[in-house]
Amino acid sequence: MTTAVVNRWDGFLAQMRERFVQIMGEAREGCPMLLQQSNFDPLPMGNAWSAIELRAKQLESKLDDTWNDQVEPTFEQAGAPPDVLARERAKGETLRDWFEVERERTRIQIWSNAGRAFYQRARAELGRPFACVRCGAPLEIPFTYRALNVPCPHCRTMNGFEPGTYMRMGETCVHPLSEEAAWPAWLAMRQAEKAWRAARPVTIHHLKAWERAQIDYWRAYLTARVQLLPDTAHAFEADLRGKMRAFYDQMDREGPWVQAGRPRDLV
Ligand SMILES: [Zn+2]
Repeated sequence: MTTAVVNRWDGFLAQMRERFVQIMGEAREGCPMLLQQSNFDPLPMGNAWSAIELRAKQLESKLDDTWNDQVEPTFEQAGAPPDVLARERAKGETLRDWFEVERERTRIQIWSNAGRAFYQRARAELGRPFACVRCGAPLEIPFTYRALNVPCPHCRTMNGFEPGTYMRMGETCVHPLSEEAAWPAWLAMRQAEKAWRAARPVTIHHLKAWERAQIDYWRAYLTARVQLLPDTAHAFEADLRGKMRAFYDQMDREGPWVQAGRPRDLV
């Protein structure tokens, strides 16, 4: 009896996974095409991605609803023991977790690629090699979305680089590009948060681990952002504190944190 329910549940999960993979595949294929077809107007691609994201989130809700409304009651009727119930529930949770990570990864990938496409387009628009105004030596065009001064490696003359319209449009992709650079740190931060949520009881060690993971993430994010927007460099430490504010506000309501004397790594 239980075996039949397990098989149906496994079949449902496999089907959901397949549909999700298909939707993300459509996004990765369709979004860059829309960007090209609209001559680098980001709006059609933005609308398409919003629709895709909604479909993906609907699948995530369906996963939860199907377990709660149908599968769990059926297991209970079939007399499934608690360990089987826990194991089968975990299968759904694992898949849902994977959906969330993949959806984020796909969003970041699509928008980072768009950012690089804007950059390439902007370079092509320049129509001439970027060369030193004094000695004519070819200069590397920096991957940045802001106007900046590029020193000539030969004669040390400062050359003004003006990124132009497409490059300025690419600035909307600074956020996903920074997220892309910080992706491994984002995964680690997510793990630390999950460890905290699962902990019984929560100790100061869970909270400190989560704090460190958050700081690592925001450092990686802001470091990438400084490369794209060099004028944000001076605000790095202030921005880092700003990004951590919500976390520290939350910690002020956590017993183990308060009892340990609010041991912030950032003051
Ligand atoms: Zn020069």
